[in-house]
Amino acid sequence: MHVERVVVGPLATNAYLVCQDDECAVIDPGDEAAAILKRLGSRALVAIVATHLHFDHVGAVLELAEATGAPFYAHPADWAVYRELNKVAEEWGFPVPEIPPPRNPGLRVWELDVLLTPGHTPGSISLVGDGVVFTGDTLFHMSVGRTDLPGGDWDALVDSICRLYRLPRVYLVYPGHGPTTTIGNEAEGNPFVDASVCDRGVRRNE
Ligand SMILES: [Zn+2]
Ligand SMILES: [Zn+2]
Repeated sequence: MHVERVVVGPLATNAYLVCQDDECAVIDPGDEAAAILKRLGSRALVAIVATHLHFDHVGAVLELAEATGAPFYAHPADWAVYRELNKVAEEWGFPVPEIPPPRNPGLRVWELDVLLTPGHTPGSISLVGDGVVFTGDTLFHMSVGRTDLPGGDWDALVDSICRLYRLPRVYLVYPGHGPTTTIGNEAEGNPFVDASVCDRGVRRNE
């Protein structure tokens, strides 16, 4: 499994191409469809996945879906808040992207396992591949997702991050913004949620 990052849009969103042989999925194509298609080259796009439905993660979805015919996946818990989330985008002065109707990703999309990691939004998902996890706006290098937007929930976010910390420490973490890190790095040193929070049993019952 081969990962390529394309940084797109005004909020410097990490769009990822995850490829196996001549097939790729794209995660969080937030903007700049042309740049993503150029990077894809002659390989087939088999799935478009949004870790959550904030505008900065879906801006290029419609164009990519129309150009390639690839299906679009996002968790249904975010569909309901999509309109409300769009209000936030409008308030910030960003154009609200149109998206095709999302499919429910279920437990697996293409070669990627789907982990429900709510908190930043109710339908935030992380995608687990071979030695890698794509965490969207849930977990960043030395930071975590904000929970003050519609549908945000700090306790749920902590639960979700603790769930991510159960992955092997060597797993590479590819976040929605900023540099790549590892589960071990964050479990040890993340200043907002480190693994000791999980060990102390602060988490709610699952
Ligand atoms: Zn977000
Ligand atoms: Zn974002």
